[in-house]
Amino acid sequence: MLNTILAKAEAGGTLTREDAVRLLAIENGSQAYYTLLGIANRDARTRFSGRGKIFAQIGIEASPCPANCAFCSLAKDVFAEQNSFVLPIGDAEKTADQLVADGVDELFLMTTANYSREDFLRYGAAIKKHLPDDMRFVANVGDFDEAYAQRLKQVGFTGVYHIRRLGEGVDTQLDPAQRIATLDAVKQAGLELYYCVEPIGPEHTPEEIVDEIFRATEYPVEVMAVMKRVCVPGTKLYARGEISAAELAKICAITELCVRPKRAMGVHEPDELCLMAGANQIYAEVSVNPRDRSLQTEQSRGASIARTKQLLGTAEWQVS
Ligand code: SF4
Repeated sequence: MLNTILAKAEAGGTLTREDAVRLLAIENGSQAYYTLLGIANRDARTRFSGRGKIFAQIGIEASPCPANCAFCSLAKDVFAEQNSFVLPIGDAEKTADQLVADGVDELFLMTTANYSREDFLRYGAAIKKHLPDDMRFVANVGDFDEAYAQRLKQVGFTGVYHIRRLGEGVDTQLDPAQRIATLDAVKQAGLELYYCVEPIGPEHTPEEIVDEIFRATEYPVEVMAVMKRVCVPGTKLYARGEISAAELAKICAITELCVRPKRAMGVHEPDELCLMAGANQIYAEVSVNPRDRSLQTEQSRGASIARTKQLLGTAEWQVS
């Protein structure tokens, strides 16, 4: 049974939900584990022509976020109002210039869930002018409808990072149905959806993980990713711990083989193991980062472009 599924995956066949659940049960470190990672690695290197991708995200503000995600450093229960911060628009533009000069492939702008939509559009319009015409530009913001998706498009965004999180509505104060309505708005507006299975913790069942892997297949998703939950000190879910690097690599490989994204397969937290298990894309991060208590994540958890290039190179992904 397991060998049949692995053979199907290797032959480029379409994997089912049941197949994915079975693959998630593979014992880490077993022979089947390395077979799975090897199949995903080969599949990804062929489809992505051996090229690694570097995306960068600029967090433009921090404030106590009413979504109150129990793993996030910006959740209203853990982030102090007096530490609120907005990156001046000129600084955001300079950061974008630097990231472009350093060789980033695609640029993301992030805010907390309730940040002013009008202000976000102003940032988008200003930063767009600093990007090469053919560079993809991605919004990572709270929920919105199709009318706002159209406005994002008008100011120059080409895509949106949006997800229905694992534990949405339980570990967050957001409505899962609203999250899905936003995914639909992205699609209806003709923006590119970037999807991710996140934030994966030790308590998530194979079925929950598989739900989010297969949700991506309901949309046109050409950039897929997996992300483990990071234990941020002071957050409510800190005590639940983290999944291992070995487990993340397994989920990465399975996700890559179930979705077979056309353009890129990303991973957080990035490591060489995932980059040998189907992932070819990682992020540099600047300013605010929900997985970091520092408001200058580039000096803390966030990787620089140089560091991401080095990591991709270590796993023999080509970067320019
Ligand atoms: S993860 Fe995003 S939506 Fe959730 S609390 Fe943090 S900033 Fe808000």
